[in-house]
Amino acid sequence: MTTLGEYRKVLKIFVISSTLSVICCDWLLVAYWNSVIGQFRMELIVFGSLYSAHDNLYSSSTSYNTPKIIVESDQLMELLSVCPMCAGHSSVELSSRHGAYLKFSSTCTTCQHFRLWENSPMKNKTPLINLFMSAGILFSRCLPTKTLRFLQMISVKSPSPATYFHYQKKFLHGVIREVYSSDMKALLKTLSTQELRVSGDGRFDTPGHSATFGVYTMMDSDTSKIISTELVKSTEVSSSPAMELEGLKRCRSSLSQKNVTIVELTTDRHAHITKWMREHWSEVQHTYDLWHISKSE
Ligand SMILES: [Zn+2]
Repeated sequence: MTTLGEYRKVLKIFVISSTLSVICCDWLLVAYWNSVIGQFRMELIVFGSLYSAHDNLYSSSTSYNTPKIIVESDQLMELLSVCPMCAGHSSVELSSRHGAYLKFSSTCTTCQHFRLWENSPMKNKTPLINLFMSAGILFSRCLPTKTLRFLQMISVKSPSPATYFHYQKKFLHGVIREVYSSDMKALLKTLSTQELRVSGDGRFDTPGHSATFGVYTMMDSDTSKIISTELVKSTEVSSSPAMELEGLKRCRSSLSQKNVTIVELTTDRHAHITKWMREHWSEVQHTYDLWHISKSE
């Protein structure tokens, strides 16, 4: 079993049960966040969320939804300084710390009983608490530096920004892509048996006519599910404004390859798109979005 595979297995469950709306900071995530179904499990995100009576606090298997609890260090020392063998006094030392992960050693001054205590399990030398906190920040679309600064301000041990970005790159993005692909595959398989009325629009990294990146997104109007997203760079086309039409063409091509049938497309009143629809995709009814019309009246 590969290390990455193990992490992915743990995180994949987390991703599937996460919820989602649009995330603005990462283009690659836009479609994913719109298409995944489910309810976000806040107990994972909040390090130290409360537990209800039916939760098993002492479960031996740890997962993303195992309740996490914030404990003041003095309160913890009070517990650890009592020897579990003779109830005598134990001297406690912090053996190691990595982000939110803490490992203490204690030695009884009476019976010399030695024990190690850690606040989170490890998986292949990676503390799961750090992994889950990083996943929670990303999947809840919080800003990582702000979230970590908040935790630091109230002295809650947490992963450093460098650790967060390392996990994001090494594990989290891969898991998102994996779940996104399988989710999208299943969605398009279902929709391929229907005639779809879709809406499409583009957006860009900067307003005006000097954008470098644009993303075109198509949504099934009946189910509000994102069915296609295409990223375009301005250097791939003649100019920045041309990115929108190119994105639409790519969405069309991608959906066509997946046997998705579109009967109606609703867009804004982008002149290039209106002309192209009339000349190259006339079998599809082209309609305008009322919001764009009322905005420009
Ligand atoms: Zn003892």
